Amino acid sequence: MNTYKPRGAGNASKPSFGNKGRSGGDRFAGSSSRPRFGSGGGNGGGSRGRFNSRPKNGGGNRSQRGGIDHNLFINKAKEEVVEAYVPTHGFTDFGLDTRIVENLTRKGYKTPSPIQDQSIPVVLGGRDMIGIANTGTGKTAAFLLPLIHKLAEDKNKKVMVLTPTRELAQQIEAELRAFTFGMKIFSISCVGGMPIRRQMMELERGVSFVIGTPGRVKDLITRGKIKMKDYGYIVLDEADRMLDMGFIDDMREILSAMLPTKQALFFSATMPPAIRTLCAQFLKDPVNISVKTRDTASNVDQDVVRIRNKGERIEVLHELLSGDDFTKVLIFREMKRQVDELEEELSKRGFKALALHGDMRNRERAHAVKSLATGTVQVVIATDVAARGIDIPDISHVINYDIPRDYETYVHRIGRTGRGSSKGKSLTFI
Ligand code: AMP
Repeated sequence: MNTYKPRGAGNASKPSFGNKGRSGGDRFAGSSSRPRFGSGGGNGGGSRGRFNSRPKNGGGNRSQRGGIDHNLFINKAKEEVVEAYVPTHGFTDFGLDTRIVENLTRKGYKTPSPIQDQSIPVVLGGRDMIGIANTGTGKTAAFLLPLIHKLAEDKNKKVMVLTPTRELAQQIEAELRAFTFGMKIFSISCVGGMPIRRQMMELERGVSFVIGTPGRVKDLITRGKIKMKDYGYIVLDEADRMLDMGFIDDMREILSAMLPTKQALFFSATMPPAIRTLCAQFLKDPVNISVKTRDTASNVDQDVVRIRNKGERIEVLHELLSGDDFTKVLIFREMKRQVDELEEELSKRGFKALALHGDMRNRERAHAVKSLATGTVQVVIATDVAARGIDIPDISHVINYDIPRDYETYVHRIGRTGRGSSKGKSLTFI
């Protein structure tokens, strides 16, 4: 990617379907994670048979599961005018180590994204910070670049980065490697599902950055292989998701084991009360930086596919996947077992498909992500947990083969398509 394309206005933490050229504006007026249901009035879109069959009366068509109004699964991506963000810094203005700047040039980063523009000076200045930002805003570089600079100045210090998933930890480590090229700064990702012995050996050899999931990091602390007192910096990435995944006590324990002089950076797309408490307890006078991201939901053409009877479902999917434009498809299912079943069925039918769920080995999961990214397979069928945080460019379609359990999950799923400035498409089977 060459030029960072800042997103326009919107609020990531409270997705809205925005206005679609009709009066009334927001359809989603919820203030909590569960949306309140708007009137849903139609936009006059005519019915094309099974697809796009928006109910004429707008109301009443609620699913039983999760109570999500099916109208919320239908939305035409709006033509948006993206306001250009004018950064106040260039990458050479921050005073970063010249090798970092060279590595950025090699990676094709030309200008800082808004979160980078605002966070880098704060982190370099030694302040704690709270970043309200989600994936896609460039937040990884926002914390990595100044921390790499600090470690280049003082090799005795160490950085701990906690993430909710293995995939995210590995993605961050890959970015870190690119940013630290030629700098002799070493890192390791300490995630579950990988041999702990190797991680223990690497830790003993000495690393500056540990990027890990809280469960495995805690395990390594208990075994005496990670000594949190040695870590001068900590980053919680996607803190709200770590909370969702039940890591709150681990996060608390890890933070408590650090010296009070630490510098801490918390990133979260939302600020649920438990994260707010964590911030109040562990951050010293933090700087708050909130970047407005484009509302993912508004950049995705969303539609429903009506399934009349159970047996028809797979046939409809088959028909869809045979379409020319279904080039890179991510299908969501609720359960691991269902994911495997669908993978098997699609493979039998001649589609190139792979599964992605939590029971698979890391290597297999990474292989599935890479295969979809590079186009070796057409379809990946995933559970929600496994798909968290994955960033695959140009996903042509997200298909909710099973209705998501709540609206936040829905927004997260469809956010896998329509990334960057491109439009995405999502279909929800109802
Ligand atoms: P993130 O939000 O950190 O996951 O970043 C989203 C994507 O944007 C990743 O593919 C990054 O490599 C890319 N990216 C982040 N910052 C920049 C930048 N300043 N210029 C170009 N690409 C960027």
